Amino acid sequence: MNKVLLLSPHTDDAELGCGGTIAKFLEEGKEIYWLVFSAAKQSVPKGYEADTIKNEFLEVCKNLNLTPSQYNVFDYRVRQLPVHRQEVLETLVKIKREFRPDLVIGPSLNDYHQDHQVVANEMIRAFKGSSSIISYELPWNHVTFSNQMFVRLSAHHLEKKLEMLQCYHTQVVMNRSYFSDEFVRGLAKTRGVQIDAEYAEAFEVIRWIM
Ligand SMILES: [Zn+2]
Repeated sequence: MNKVLLLSPHTDDAELGCGGTIAKFLEEGKEIYWLVFSAAKQSVPKGYEADTIKNEFLEVCKNLNLTPSQYNVFDYRVRQLPVHRQEVLETLVKIKREFRPDLVIGPSLNDYHQDHQVVANEMIRAFKGSSSIISYELPWNHVTFSNQMFVRLSAHHLEKKLEMLQCYHTQVVMNRSYFSDEFVRGLAKTRGVQIDAEYAEAFEVIRWIM
Protein backbone atom coordinates (compact mmCIF):
# COMPACT_ATOMS: atom_id res chain seq x y z
CA MET A 1 0.00 0.00 0.00
CA ASN A 2 2.60 2.50 -1.11
CA LYS A 3 0.93 4.79 -3.66
CA VAL A 4 -1.90 6.92 -2.31
CA LEU A 5 -4.16 9.17 -4.35
CA LEU A 6 -5.94 11.96 -2.43
CA LEU A 7 -9.09 13.48 -3.91
CA SER A 8 -10.34 16.88 -2.75
CA PRO A 9 -13.44 18.36 -4.41
CA HIS A 10 -12.28 21.70 -2.95
CA THR A 11 -9.04 22.78 -1.37
CA ASP A 12 -9.23 21.95 2.37
CA ASP A 13 -11.50 18.84 2.12
CA ALA A 14 -8.73 16.25 2.43
CA GLU A 15 -6.95 18.22 5.15
CA LEU A 16 -10.17 18.35 7.19
CA GLY A 17 -11.10 14.73 6.51
CA CYS A 18 -7.73 13.03 6.78
CA GLY A 19 -4.97 15.58 7.49
CA GLY A 20 -3.54 13.44 10.29
CA THR A 21 -3.47 10.41 8.00
CA ILE A 22 -1.71 12.43 5.28
CA ALA A 23 0.93 13.49 7.83
CA LYS A 24 1.36 9.86 8.97
CA PHE A 25 1.56 8.49 5.41
CA LEU A 26 4.20 11.05 4.41
CA GLU A 27 6.19 10.18 7.53
CA GLU A 28 6.01 6.51 6.49
CA GLY A 29 7.41 7.41 3.07
CA LYS A 30 4.28 6.65 1.07
CA GLU A 31 4.06 8.20 -2.37
CA ILE A 32 1.24 10.75 -2.46
CA TYR A 33 -0.54 12.34 -5.41
CA TRP A 34 -3.16 14.95 -4.53
CA LEU A 35 -5.88 16.13 -6.88
CA VAL A 36 -8.04 19.18 -6.10
CA PHE A 37 -10.98 19.97 -8.37
CA SER A 38 -11.93 23.48 -7.26
CA ALA A 39 -9.88 26.21 -5.67
CA ALA A 40 -13.20 27.80 -4.69
CA LYS A 41 -12.52 31.23 -6.24
CA GLN A 42 -16.22 32.05 -5.83
CA SER A 43 -16.06 31.45 -2.06
CA VAL A 44 -13.18 33.81 -1.29
CA PRO A 45 -14.27 36.30 1.41
CA LYS A 46 -14.55 39.98 0.50
CA GLY A 47 -11.25 41.81 0.39
CA TYR A 48 -9.19 38.75 -0.63
CA GLU A 49 -7.73 37.99 -4.08
CA ALA A 50 -9.53 35.30 -6.12
CA ASP A 51 -6.46 33.04 -5.94
CA THR A 52 -6.22 33.22 -2.16
CA ILE A 53 -7.64 29.78 -1.36
CA LYS A 54 -5.49 28.14 -4.04
CA ASN A 55 -2.46 29.84 -2.50
CA GLU A 56 -3.51 28.57 0.92
CA PHE A 57 -3.51 25.02 -0.50
CA LEU A 58 -0.04 25.64 -1.98
CA GLU A 59 1.05 26.76 1.49
CA VAL A 60 -0.16 23.40 2.85
CA CYS A 61 1.84 21.58 0.15
CA LYS A 62 4.92 23.63 1.02
CA ASN A 63 4.43 22.86 4.71
CA LEU A 64 4.34 19.14 3.81
CA ASN A 65 7.39 19.44 1.51
CA LEU A 66 5.36 18.27 -1.51
CA THR A 67 6.77 19.14 -4.92
CA PRO A 68 4.52 20.44 -7.77
CA SER A 69 4.74 16.98 -9.38
CA GLN A 70 2.77 15.62 -6.39
CA TYR A 71 -0.40 17.70 -6.75
CA ASN A 72 -2.68 19.34 -9.29
CA VAL A 73 -5.38 21.97 -8.73
CA PHE A 74 -8.18 22.31 -11.28
CA ASP A 75 -10.24 25.44 -11.59
CA TYR A 76 -13.85 24.20 -11.63
CA ARG A 77 -16.44 26.53 -10.14
CA VAL A 78 -17.85 25.66 -6.73
CA ARG A 79 -21.15 23.68 -6.94
CA GLN A 80 -20.62 23.17 -10.70
CA LEU A 81 -18.92 19.77 -10.63
CA PRO A 82 -22.21 17.98 -11.47
CA VAL A 83 -22.11 19.77 -14.85
CA HIS A 84 -18.56 18.50 -15.44
CA ARG A 85 -19.10 14.92 -14.21
CA GLN A 86 -17.71 13.24 -17.33
CA GLU A 87 -14.56 15.41 -17.30
CA VAL A 88 -14.02 14.50 -13.66
CA LEU A 89 -14.28 10.80 -14.58
CA GLU A 90 -11.90 11.18 -17.52
CA THR A 91 -9.36 12.98 -15.30
CA LEU A 92 -9.54 10.15 -12.76
CA VAL A 93 -9.16 7.47 -15.43
CA LYS A 94 -6.07 9.30 -16.75
CA ILE A 95 -4.57 9.47 -13.23
CA LYS A 96 -5.33 5.78 -12.75
CA ARG A 97 -3.22 4.92 -15.81
CA GLU A 98 -0.40 7.33 -14.98
CA PHE A 99 -0.10 7.02 -11.18
CA ARG A 100 -1.59 3.55 -10.56
CA PRO A 101 -2.56 4.14 -6.92
CA ASP A 102 -2.83 1.27 -4.44
CA LEU A 103 -5.20 3.32 -2.30
CA VAL A 104 -7.60 6.13 -3.20
CA ILE A 105 -8.98 8.41 -0.48
CA GLY A 106 -11.90 10.70 -1.30
CA PRO A 107 -15.29 11.93 -0.10
CA SER A 108 -18.06 9.66 1.14
CA LEU A 109 -21.11 8.54 -0.82
CA ASN A 110 -22.97 9.77 2.28
CA ASP A 111 -21.66 13.31 1.78
CA TYR A 112 -24.47 15.62 0.68
CA HIS A 113 -22.41 18.43 -0.84
CA GLN A 114 -23.16 18.26 -4.57
CA ASP A 115 -19.49 18.56 -5.60
CA HIS A 116 -18.44 15.92 -3.08
CA GLN A 117 -21.11 13.54 -4.40
CA VAL A 118 -19.73 13.82 -7.92
CA VAL A 119 -16.16 13.11 -6.83
CA ALA A 120 -17.29 10.19 -4.61
CA ASN A 121 -19.26 8.57 -7.44
CA GLU A 122 -16.63 9.08 -10.14
CA MET A 123 -13.90 7.86 -7.76
CA ILE A 124 -15.73 4.55 -7.44
CA ARG A 125 -16.51 4.37 -11.14
CA ALA A 126 -12.82 4.92 -12.02
CA PHE A 127 -11.03 2.88 -9.34
CA LYS A 128 -13.36 0.06 -8.28
CA GLY A 129 -11.48 -2.50 -10.35
CA SER A 130 -7.95 -1.42 -9.53
CA SER A 131 -7.45 0.15 -6.10
CA SER A 132 -8.56 0.07 -2.50
CA ILE A 133 -10.95 2.96 -1.89
CA ILE A 134 -11.83 4.64 1.41
CA SER A 135 -13.81 7.78 2.26
CA TYR A 136 -12.87 10.43 4.80
CA GLU A 137 -15.22 11.85 7.41
CA LEU A 138 -16.62 15.40 7.19
CA PRO A 139 -19.37 15.20 9.85
CA TRP A 140 -21.09 18.48 8.90
CA ASN A 141 -21.83 17.05 5.44
CA HIS A 142 -23.14 13.63 6.52
CA VAL A 143 -26.50 12.33 7.65
CA THR A 144 -24.87 8.99 8.42
CA PHE A 145 -21.25 7.82 8.35
CA SER A 146 -19.97 4.29 9.08
CA ASN A 147 -16.74 4.22 11.06
CA GLN A 148 -15.46 1.07 9.42
CA MET A 149 -11.75 1.72 9.30
CA PHE A 150 -9.44 3.75 11.53
CA VAL A 151 -5.97 5.20 11.20
CA ARG A 152 -4.22 5.55 14.57
CA LEU A 153 -2.64 8.96 15.07
CA SER A 154 -0.09 10.28 17.53
CA ALA A 155 -0.19 13.78 18.97
CA HIS A 156 2.35 15.05 16.41
CA HIS A 157 0.17 13.90 13.50
CA LEU A 158 -2.73 15.85 14.94
CA GLU A 159 -0.51 18.92 15.44
CA LYS A 160 0.49 18.66 11.77
CA LYS A 161 -3.19 18.52 10.78
CA LEU A 162 -3.88 21.66 12.82
CA GLU A 163 -0.89 23.37 11.17
CA MET A 164 -2.28 22.44 7.73
CA LEU A 165 -5.69 23.89 8.63
CA GLN A 166 -4.09 27.09 9.92
CA CYS A 167 -2.81 27.71 6.36
CA TYR A 168 -6.45 28.42 5.39
CA HIS A 169 -6.50 31.97 6.77
CA THR A 170 -9.72 32.78 4.85
CA GLN A 171 -11.58 29.94 6.59
CA VAL A 172 -10.11 30.67 10.00
CA VAL A 173 -11.17 34.34 9.85
CA MET A 174 -14.68 33.22 8.85
CA ASN A 175 -14.78 31.32 12.15
CA ARG A 176 -15.94 28.07 10.53
CA SER A 177 -16.76 25.78 13.44
CA TYR A 178 -15.13 22.73 11.84
CA PHE A 179 -11.83 24.61 11.58
CA SER A 180 -11.69 25.18 15.33
CA ASP A 181 -8.91 23.58 17.30
CA GLU A 182 -11.51 22.30 19.77
CA PHE A 183 -13.54 20.49 17.10
CA VAL A 184 -10.54 18.95 15.30
CA ARG A 185 -9.04 17.68 18.57
CA GLY A 186 -12.44 16.52 19.84
CA LEU A 187 -13.21 14.42 16.76
CA ALA A 188 -9.70 12.91 16.66
CA LYS A 189 -10.02 12.10 20.36
CA THR A 190 -13.49 10.56 19.87
CA ARG A 191 -12.25 8.34 17.04
CA GLY A 192 -9.19 7.47 19.14
CA VAL A 193 -11.33 6.41 22.11
CA GLN A 194 -13.23 4.01 19.82
CA ILE A 195 -10.03 2.06 19.08
CA ASP A 196 -8.07 2.61 22.30
CA ALA A 197 -5.61 4.99 20.61
CA GLU A 198 -4.50 8.49 21.54
CA TYR A 199 -6.11 9.97 18.43
CA ALA A 200 -7.50 8.60 15.16
CA GLU A 201 -9.30 9.40 11.93
CA ALA A 202 -12.18 7.22 10.73
CA PHE A 203 -13.01 6.11 7.20
CA GLU A 204 -15.70 4.27 5.32
CA VAL A 205 -14.44 1.35 3.26
CA ILE A 206 -15.74 1.19 -0.29
CA ARG A 207 -13.27 -1.39 -1.58
CA TRP A 208 -10.31 -3.09 0.06
CA ILE A 209 -7.84 -5.06 -2.00
CA MET A 210 -5.03 -6.98 -0.32
ZN1 LIG B 1 -15.57 20.62 -0.19
